[in-house]
Amino acid sequence: MSDSDADRPTDDHVPGDDEFEPIQVFPEAEEMDLRPGADNCYKCSTCDTNCPVAEVDDEFPGPKFQGPEQWRLKRGEDTDIDPSIEKCSNCMRCDHACPSEVPLSQMHNTARGEYVEEHVDKLSREYVRNRILSNYGTMARIGSKVPRLTNFVMGLSVTKWVNDRVLGITSEREFPEFATETFREWWDERGGGQASRERARKARAASESESEGEDEGEDKRVAYFHGDYANYNTPEVAKAMVRVFEAFGYEVCVPDQRCSGTPMFANGMLDDARRAAKFNVDTFRELVDDGYDVICSCTSCSMALRQEYPELFDFEGTETVAANTYEALEYLRIHEDLDRELADSDVETPDFAYHTPCHARNQGLDGQTLEVVAAIDGVAAHDVGDSCSGISGTYGWKNEHYETSMAIGEEMFQHMDSADAETGLTECPTCAMQMEHGTGYEIRHPLEVLEAALVADSDVQQ
Ligand code: SF4
Ligand code: SF4
Repeated sequence: MSDSDADRPTDDHVPGDDEFEPIQVFPEAEEMDLRPGADNCYKCSTCDTNCPVAEVDDEFPGPKFQGPEQWRLKRGEDTDIDPSIEKCSNCMRCDHACPSEVPLSQMHNTARGEYVEEHVDKLSREYVRNRILSNYGTMARIGSKVPRLTNFVMGLSVTKWVNDRVLGITSEREFPEFATETFREWWDERGGGQASRERARKARAASESESEGEDEGEDKRVAYFHGDYANYNTPEVAKAMVRVFEAFGYEVCVPDQRCSGTPMFANGMLDDARRAAKFNVDTFRELVDDGYDVICSCTSCSMALRQEYPELFDFEGTETVAANTYEALEYLRIHEDLDRELADSDVETPDFAYHTPCHARNQGLDGQTLEVVAAIDGVAAHDVGDSCSGISGTYGWKNEHYETSMAIGEEMFQHMDSADAETGLTECPTCAMQMEHGTGYEIRHPLEVLEAALVADSDVQQ
């Protein structure tokens, strides 16, 4: 295996057994215990000054209230969760900003789950809409059976009007199109894991002959968590992920999987999230036991598997999966000499305006994409700053949050406008939606750029 050009990240964000002493915050929600740390809050308000919603909405009380303050009230007396928890977008910037390791996002997710469970009418428009949005995979599975028809119907103004007026899904946004062939259909058609094993073996053999017998290892195996969006809407990103990893000699496995749960956490649908997480942990734990590492192409998916699962659930294997999950570029930077591999690459791409997703920042991954693409001749990417895109998954799709979402995104739009580029670049599919919506730019994923640099044209056809 080649030298890494990046430091191995720590698992500081994953609670270890020795430091986990559950405190039951909400007695009625038996599995929603919080780690010690709530009392670590010393009211510095750093979280509040980093909250993009609080910055544009004076009525939002901010993360300090949503987290430790509400928790203290809750512990002292039988206080209901404040409805303002629904204004939190789950961007998790407060979690990253807190200097005292207060588990803010865990508190918010827990509080949101309890609020929805106890105070939201299950027949209300809000609940039905949020359930539909947070179970996007179910809708996508049905819609992608007849993608052209679904795309046509979802693009009609009457459909947008009905979604807006009946469900409260904003008609300001264009519904993302379904691909005519899902990633998993392509994967099966291509020969599945057997074909990947063969391609990886050939790439390793070529690499070994180039490096005069140097053992590149046959234990290069990754299990790909693609998530719903890459499967149904952007299979080109998932294909790029497979081809890039195979070019490095990795055998890729694509097991059955459910949504990572990110939209469910953000909408307080913790029962749905628990079912999805259980399925994913059971599946990927077995693969980790067999020697696979877990790779994600979406930074919110890797965030869910490595941080939110262990914060909220304790299925057998949750910590094992968390400790062996990586974002795709992060993994390559750890295990491969990307600078060396990219040194001879020369591709022609438009210049990019690059946005770091908040969930990438939260995993300590900010900066890595700019460093990687800077090593490719012919590629220029301009950082558009550290602001939040504002969409936060399903948040910016809701009528009541659309204006807030766009107000938060304004700084990023302006920086994109002033960057010397007219194509966007980001790892997060919903940040990509917001970037496109706010600027009209086409948006690409860093893995597509790596594919252009590292994968032969003949292999891209397969
Ligand atoms: S940043 Fe942390 S310590 Fe400071 S107010 Fe927020 S929760 Fe408390
Ligand atoms: S998760 Fe984001 S929106 Fe929610 S309180 Fe924290 S910083 Fe604010």
